[in-house]
Amino acid sequence: MAVDSIKLIDIIKAIADKINEKREYLTQLDSAIGDADHGINMSKGFKAVVEKITNMGDKDCGTILKTVGMTLVSTVGGASGPLYGTAFMKAGQAVAGKVNLDFNDLISVCEAALEGIKYRGKAEKGEKTIVDALEPAVEALRKHRSEGLKTALQEAVKAAKKGMEYTKNIIAKKGRASYLGERSLGHQDPGATSCYIMLETLADQLLDKKS
Ligand code: ADP
Ligand code: MG
Repeated sequence: MAVDSIKLIDIIKAIADKINEKREYLTQLDSAIGDADHGINMSKGFKAVVEKITNMGDKDCGTILKTVGMTLVSTVGGASGPLYGTAFMKAGQAVAGKVNLDFNDLISVCEAALEGIKYRGKAEKGEKTIVDALEPAVEALRKHRSEGLKTALQEAVKAAKKGMEYTKNIIAKKGRASYLGERSLGHQDPGATSCYIMLETLADQLLDKKS
């Protein structure tokens, strides 16, 4: 696998399209345990991202990812803006100056994104957040690294899905949903869901499946 700047921009555009497609669904999930804006926040942020990065094909992958992060921080009002923004900025730092990303770089990008979210949100697995989808995915990428890109990515998407679904069974400890305490049980976390959608789209793009 080799992802150059043009391909990276295509992947981010595909993520933006998917997030926009799932906008109502994400907002509906957030209406149950938050303030009904997660889909709106994410689609607004990624719309701005696409405008910013479309003509960045001559820039390196680190700069592109950093721009995605800064754009999300500055355009998304909700908690998810600084969280995903930090994730993409850290991801950009992890591959600073690179014009091509290989499989190991992809794993570094995902690891750095996870680290960024955990640092910014002071969140750990099991608190009903984005971390519940992203951390299992990163663990699966590491575990299946030696089996190659396809298996590792498929396992990562599976793990993220399982983590996302598991958020129904846990009480929110971070963000707005935490105000609900036990009443957050039974509801799937919007942030874990948007994270799963992004990972699934990334995998579809890299494995040449139509998303
Ligand atoms: P807001 O909660 O400000 O309305 P969004 O609705 O866009 O922002 O995003 C909510 C999502 O953000 C939650 O579903 C959760 O996954 C994630 N989230 C909130 N706080 C944290 C945190 N401290 N760490 C990690 N993720 C968090
Ligand atoms: Mg919200």
